[in-house]
Order: sequence, then C-alpha cells, then structure tokens
Amino acid sequence: MKCHGSLTLGFALIMGVSAFAALANAQDSPAISVKPVSEGVYWADAGGGGNAGFIIGKDGVIVVDATIAPASGRQVLAEIAKLTPKPVTTVILTHSDVDHVNGLAAFPPGLTIIAHENCKKDIEATANSRNPSPQDRLPNKILTASESLTINGVRVNVLHFAPAHTSGDLQVYLPAQKIVFTGDVIATSCCGNVRSPQAYTMIKAQKNGSAEGWVQTVKGLLALNADTYVPGHGDLQTKADLQQRLARVEARREQVRKMAAQGKSLEQVKQALGETGPAPGYDPAQFPDFTTVVYTEFTKKR
Ligand SMILES: [Zn+2]
Repeated sequence: MKCHGSLTLGFALIMGVSAFAALANAQDSPAISVKPVSEGVYWADAGGGGNAGFIIGKDGVIVVDATIAPASGRQVLAEIAKLTPKPVTTVILTHSDVDHVNGLAAFPPGLTIIAHENCKKDIEATANSRNPSPQDRLPNKILTASESLTINGVRVNVLHFAPAHTSGDLQVYLPAQKIVFTGDVIATSCCGNVRSPQAYTMIKAQKNGSAEGWVQTVKGLLALNADTYVPGHGDLQTKADLQQRLARVEARREQVRKMAAQGKSLEQVKQALGETGPAPGYDPAQFPDFTTVVYTEFTKKR
C-alpha cells in the first residue's frame, strides 16, 4: 500500500509538473503552424515570433531563423521531426533580432550557423542584456557578402545587398525553387509595422539599418528569378506584393525628402503626414518609426 501510495503521489507530481510545463510552454510560445511552400520547403508561422523556414535536403535539414525562445525552438525541431527523420545540420540567420535567434538555445550543439558578420556582432552584444541571445550558439560560418552555397545537396544563394532592416541582414534564395526567405526586410505583421503604417517597413537604426539600403535590397530581391517571398513576419508574398511595397516606401521617402529639403523639422514632417503621438506600447529605441529613420538619413546627408 505504502509503495502504491508513493507511486500515486509520484504520478500526480509528474502529471502536475508536465501540466505546468505545457502551460509555461504555451505562455512563452504560441503554437507554431507549418505550411508547405514547395517540394521539401516549408515555412513556419511562429505566432508572435519571427517566421522560420525548413529546407529538407539530401542528408539533412537547413533551417532559416530559429524563432523567439527555447520553447518555440523546441517546437520547430518537433515539427521538423514530423516531416523527416533527417537531422538539422545548418541554421541560416537572416538577422540578429531575438525573435529570430533565441530559439537556437533549443538546437543541438555542433550545427553550422551561417550569419553576416554584423549579425554575429549584434548577437555577441546581447551577452549582458536583459534577454541575451545564446552565446554558446554563435554563428560559426560568417559572411560579409553574397555567397552561393550547396548545402545538403540544395543550392542556396545567401544574399546581402546592403544594410536594410539591420546592417547584418541576409536573405536566402533557393534558385531551383524560386523562393526567397527575406527576414524582416519584409514583414507584413507584428512589430515590422510599429508606428509607421503597415504599408512601409521597419528599419532598426540602432543596428545600423538603412532605409536607402532597404530600397536597394528590395530592388535586388525583385530582380531575382523568384515567385514566392517568405517574409520575417506574416504571410507569403508575391513579387507584385514586393513591388507595391517598394513603390509605397519610395513615395513616402520622397515626401519626407522634400519636406526635409524645405527645412521642416521632424515634428512638422510627422504632423504633415498625420503621424502624431508616440506609438503605444513600444520603445522607440527598439522600434524606431520609419519617418524618423528616413528624415534622419536625409538630414544627415545635407
Ligand atoms: Zn522579427
């Protein structure tokens, strides 16, 4: 009886702990939903965190971005295991933001982690921050320019046109599948649209991103022989979607440029554009608004 009693207690404890773990899991990471893009290529909508991509190659899996936290990183690995028994060998980071990097903590050691050199620097700089990125999963294949790679038998062109969302951006182009993973250069939901209307883009000035570089980057992405663009946040985009976004951004930049050239202050420009008051709930140091970034770029050059 005694033995049975402690077994029952033990079972209850285990159930309690796993129920708690499930709850904690649900709280810090909404469910991931995985959607196919093409044969062997998937994207995952990680709820609040950045999107991830999976490319199943001959001998293993390439992951594009690791999502926001260990719990979502574990979900990514679990979803991949449902699709293939092949191991994850490679992670490509599109940039250094925590919502694309911190899930790496759940990934096994010994992977090839590809990133731009400025992305690695930004990740290292988080070491003593409130939400550090995993310092034992630092990028170990560093790019400073575009490179054409073959990984697990898959042709992968890793691109860097210019500083855009950050100075350490990479985009991942699969020429055979005509698919591009854009990272947050394109983000149609979430914090990519804070304060500035949904229509534009998020430039991380604090990570040396550039609106001018964004235009150059999106022109580069449009010049690719690609049909499908997987954004950093939100749903799949077509080439026409990117063209429309580029046109909106260029028109807005031109409005700001003209007013800056007339000597208008940032406040006057924002007033004229109907952008008054702070963005609710967001720290402008972390999420600079588009008009401020563009105005600063134009006035610095004068
Ligand atoms: Zn993001």
